Amino acid sequence: MIRKLLRRVFKKPARAPHHIPTKAAKVAELPVSVHGIRREQVSTAARRTCETLQKAGFKAYVVGGAVRDLLIGADPKDYDVATDATPDQVRQLFRRSRIIGRRFQIVHVMFGQETIEVSTFRAAHDKNTITDEHGRVLHDNVWGTQAEDAARRDFTANALYYDPHKEVVLDYHRGVDDIKKKTLRMIGDPRTRYREDPVRMLRAVRLAAKLGIKIDPDTEAPIREMAELLENVPAARLFDEMLKLLTSGHAVACIKRLRDAHLHHGLLPLLDVILEQPMGEKFVMLSLANTDARVRAGKTTSPGFLFATLLWHEVLANWEIRKKRGELPTPALFEAMDEILDQQAEKLAITRRIAGDIKDIWLLQPRFDKRSGRQPMRLIDQPRFRAAYDFLLLRAQSGEVPMELADWWTAFHDADFAERETMLLPDTDPKKKRRRRRSNSKKGAAPESSGEAA
Ligand code: ATP
Ligand code: MG
Repeated sequence: MIRKLLRRVFKKPARAPHHIPTKAAKVAELPVSVHGIRREQVSTAARRTCETLQKAGFKAYVVGGAVRDLLIGADPKDYDVATDATPDQVRQLFRRSRIIGRRFQIVHVMFGQETIEVSTFRAAHDKNTITDEHGRVLHDNVWGTQAEDAARRDFTANALYYDPHKEVVLDYHRGVDDIKKKTLRMIGDPRTRYREDPVRMLRAVRLAAKLGIKIDPDTEAPIREMAELLENVPAARLFDEMLKLLTSGHAVACIKRLRDAHLHHGLLPLLDVILEQPMGEKFVMLSLANTDARVRAGKTTSPGFLFATLLWHEVLANWEIRKKRGELPTPALFEAMDEILDQQAEKLAITRRIAGDIKDIWLLQPRFDKRSGRQPMRLIDQPRFRAAYDFLLLRAQSGEVPMELADWWTAFHDADFAERETMLLPDTDPKKKRRRRRSNSKKGAAPESSGEAA
């Protein structure tokens, strides 16, 4: 029945494979009986944003990921609204709103906790568009018609406009059809679109993994050969996209797809190396599976923790080399951390705040080896203890440190003050040993390892 209706709506095949449809694209206006989205499913904030704009005489639609997710039956993460009002006009209609961005302006409209991103219809690219030498579009701030706005979006499934008032979906590129076929398809010629913005390759992988759908063969084919274009993308943009990917709740699936598509080379240069070591791969995959479970359970995740796990085995290897060269363990760890973060920064600009979180987690790790004296009490009081402890659990699960160590810390953490005192191991501080040895003038090997329980 739905198919019949769709067939009726889309009488002609509107798409030629090597042509970016712009003004010529025929728009299909789909009723609820075809798309099935009721206005109650849309957040009140998004609905009110559209209503206010429409009452002021503008066009306004929920657009992009939210419409796609509603069609698939997933819960939209956030809402974008597209309109023919300029940012200034939008700004004037909403008391709690502000204009974001300089070259490409959008308006954030705030309703309580929720922020709706409102963007003005933008023009598709043409020969006047400014690009870099690889064809990457540098400016994207020319206002356009709604049809042009649809054409400059990435995938057909992302170019759907939902009017909550009329409950219709405007579909310029047969996106509803593609969603029903569980296909992610690029609008226009995939090669041209990847050249304009190589991040679209990452978006293809992330969205396909997130939505559990396949990438159309013509959309997927050029990715492998064009992967190196990611090298020209600014490091801050790549970081944002990578963070989205890792916190999508489908990070394991995404990383697997990235590897299949050879996309991980340009992104996390160190990830290549890590994933090639069995212990490193186990650690990273455990961490990502853990993050996926948290995201899906609606819990928060920390980007610092995530990147700390991704890079840990590189830090370990670098630290080991330094210690073998005779550097003292603690300064060597500092040096190793800085070197790995610097290498990473060339490709992926990890923000300074997140880099600080990463270092906190790493620096606390050697302190888990100390289970005597006052040190465990001090460690447990550290503000970053919880993250560092979770990190230790992953290290134990991946076989890097004995599970017994993690179990000890779990028990120590759960114990009350008196019980903690009884759990502490005999003091094995070498300085104290030396002092004792000197005063007793006795010879004997100091028990170095803190790996065994008392
Ligand atoms: P999600 O929010 O679930 O991660 P999304 O598709 O909504 O996915 P956003 O980054 O929120 O992703 O983008 C909103 C919309 O903007 C997209 O649906 C798409 O129409 C358009 N868009 C985003 N990034 C690009 C891009 N690189 N090229 C073309 N269009 C894009
Ligand atoms: Mg979105």
